[in-house]
Amino acid sequence: MVFYPPVYDDEIIYSIFTRYFELSGLIGVKEALITLFGTSTPCIYTMFPKYLKRFMGKAELFNNQDFNKYMMDNTILPLFKPFICKDSFESIQVLLEEYEEKAINAKLGLTMKDSFIKVDSIKICLECIKMDYQKFGETYLRIEHQIKGNNVCWKHNEVLYEHKIRDYKNDTIIKINEIIRKNLIEDYFRQVFIGDTFYEHLDLAISIADIFKTKDIEINLQLTKDKYKDVLFDKKLITPKGYLKQTKLTEMMYDCYSSEFLVIQNAYIDEKNKDNWLHRMMIKSRNVTNPIKHLLFIRMLFGSYNDFLEY
Ligand SMILES: [Zn+2]
Repeated sequence: MVFYPPVYDDEIIYSIFTRYFELSGLIGVKEALITLFGTSTPCIYTMFPKYLKRFMGKAELFNNQDFNKYMMDNTILPLFKPFICKDSFESIQVLLEEYEEKAINAKLGLTMKDSFIKVDSIKICLECIKMDYQKFGETYLRIEHQIKGNNVCWKHNEVLYEHKIRDYKNDTIIKINEIIRKNLIEDYFRQVFIGDTFYEHLDLAISIADIFKTKDIEINLQLTKDKYKDVLFDKKLITPKGYLKQTKLTEMMYDCYSSEFLVIQNAYIDEKNKDNWLHRMMIKSRNVTNPIKHLLFIRMLFGSYNDFLEY
């Protein structure tokens, strides 16, 4: 008999599989893959497991659940919703069913290098784990913590710990509950290095959380860009002829964030290079930019993600 664990509200799909693997009593990864996906090909990528439809077909738990609802509840997809076109968002959901990583990344505006699908680490908050054990007697991996660039738990004001995945073939399944029961956290996890940027990371974590809390509202790149235009106009960052005051904008970015933080977020702006991400994000209308960069921009000009929504 196959046992399917309950799914927690903010649990990432990957975590559901790893908990299943621990709880099922199956010994080999291969056996578990065949049971759940009908294939022994490694497919447990952190963000979106390959052959997800097969998994859902097998897991009775998901039988009544719509694929798209599952995508919105247990993956990082909501993070992209405000920053891509409505039609792209719909086609990504279709691509995810078939797992076309290259095509998905292209739609999301990401290169394979900064793919959100195969991230290179798994992150946890030690305080969340304590809380989970008191409440549920086990723990799980949270969606928000796995997002690249999100390095702080906003609920507990704690820096996250990470386990680096070196090899997707052999190092794929992290049995988080077993690691905790055997007291092996220090062997597997290291605190993420964020230097002196704790508060900047905390702000970012709060913005990310706000996106997930408001994932059901109607928002897309077009509406976002309209708000950007309005705020730039109101803050006099556009010349009367309609040109963006790019130097001023870059200066504001450096007043708002430390260069240490921008480097960690891969968002450092080289002022000599006019074709930097800030410029591309503003000028090219259908160009997709990493959501983290949008959030840095939003915090700088609107104050918070919620202020941005209400603008
Ligand atoms: Zn926490």
